[in-house]
Amino acid sequence: MISPRDRGTKRQPSKDRLLLTVENGWKSIKKRDHKKIDEISDDYRRFLTLVKTERAATNEGVARAKEHGYTDLQDVINSGNRLKPGDRIYANIKGKTLLLIHIGKDPIEQGLRIVGGHTDSPRLDLKPRPLYEDGGLSMLDTHYYGGIKKYQWVTIPLALHGVVTKKDGESVQINIGEDADDPVFTITDLLPHLGKDQAEKKLNDGITGEGLNVVFGSIPDSGGDSKTAIKLNSLKLLHDKYGINESDLISAELSLVPAGAARDLGIDRSMILGYGHDDRVSAFSAMRALFDIKRTPDKTAVCILTDKEEIGSVGATGMYSFLFENVMAEIVNLSTSDYSDLILRRCLKNSKMLSADVNALHDPNYPEVSSPNDNMAKMNHGLVVTKYVGSRGKAGSNDARAEYIAELRTIFDDAGVIWQTGEIGKVDQGGGGTIAFMLARYEMDVIDCGVGVLSMHAPWEVVGKLDIYMAYKGYNAFYRS
Ligand code: MN
Ligand code: MN
Repeated sequence: MISPRDRGTKRQPSKDRLLLTVENGWKSIKKRDHKKIDEISDDYRRFLTLVKTERAATNEGVARAKEHGYTDLQDVINSGNRLKPGDRIYANIKGKTLLLIHIGKDPIEQGLRIVGGHTDSPRLDLKPRPLYEDGGLSMLDTHYYGGIKKYQWVTIPLALHGVVTKKDGESVQINIGEDADDPVFTITDLLPHLGKDQAEKKLNDGITGEGLNVVFGSIPDSGGDSKTAIKLNSLKLLHDKYGINESDLISAELSLVPAGAARDLGIDRSMILGYGHDDRVSAFSAMRALFDIKRTPDKTAVCILTDKEEIGSVGATGMYSFLFENVMAEIVNLSTSDYSDLILRRCLKNSKMLSADVNALHDPNYPEVSSPNDNMAKMNHGLVVTKYVGSRGKAGSNDARAEYIAELRTIFDDAGVIWQTGEIGKVDQGGGGTIAFMLARYEMDVIDCGVGVLSMHAPWEVVGKLDIYMAYKGYNAFYRS
């Protein structure tokens, strides 16, 4: 209670201690941090150029894990060996989700330190019968994946990535459009000269989902009939290169994504323009932060790189499945002499997690949607801590508790992490969701904590290099806490 005599006359701490000041991190970082920022962001830019699907992310993650002494969980199970502190294991879930586990010194039932991001990104998936011929062109019919603004995906070069599995089980990897010599694909748009009716539509209706059809080829096969000769020629080329038929496209996962490399952005090279920062930037930082732990951590550290977040995390390789619990049951079994469900439950309940997903940055082009009064994250202001997401009164949000946030403040400040808070836009403007609430079901503390992005879900998104480094640094400190 404030008494009538309390008028701020008592001795007060200095102004700097009373006020919270969050500044552009470049003003305060040390010289040695510049080198580290360059090293981490160069590595990330190469990763992002290489990794355009969750399958590619899993493959690259497994390759890097092996280099860092990680062993396949299945091999450990088969060997009959027990796990001990310092051991490093990876669990590859059907080639689409990856868990990396560094066994800590403390008993497993005391809980885990988890940092979890996702490696799927919005894109255009091919339909099961994608190839058709129309108007003198062979075309690919698509069904978009994740929340996209459709008008952004026309008239840009697209690359085709994915896998085709034949009836005999052989999988063929497809990757067309990334090499400078490769052809690319594209979706056409109306010329402005004939675009009068289109221009009068709402932005959302100008380009429709069924309108996202990709130009694939235009030369007819000399032996084909007049209606399918161009489609036939396209199929012949696919067969020549990959040995696949039209029926094989039924058992395939093929996606069109923006073609080309991630690039440095800005005259000062302080940012990266790339496809799929959401959420490969947090996933990458979480993975590198785990690999760079030098000593055996106290608590077992776990990095989750999951699939399917952009479509609600359902499906066998999404976080709504039991994949995490299944893997942790194996780890508990390999770490304890007498496995019990109770130990597993205690392990999960006592765990702490950072849900490593991107958040929206304040965009000077659209200030009207930002959360006011310093509640919107800003470029170069560091790792973004997001207490709650959701929409319409925090609905669907994990909303982390005060005590947990206080712990994180100490961890980040002690490690010299530059960090900020951020909401996804102003109240009732919209909202979003992450995997946070799924892990919170185990009664563990979870909070959203990731890198800020401009143009989220656009073909080319923007992140700041200092923010990537601070995510890396923050995650690394958290694993060791
Ligand atoms: Mn995301
Ligand atoms: Mn997203």
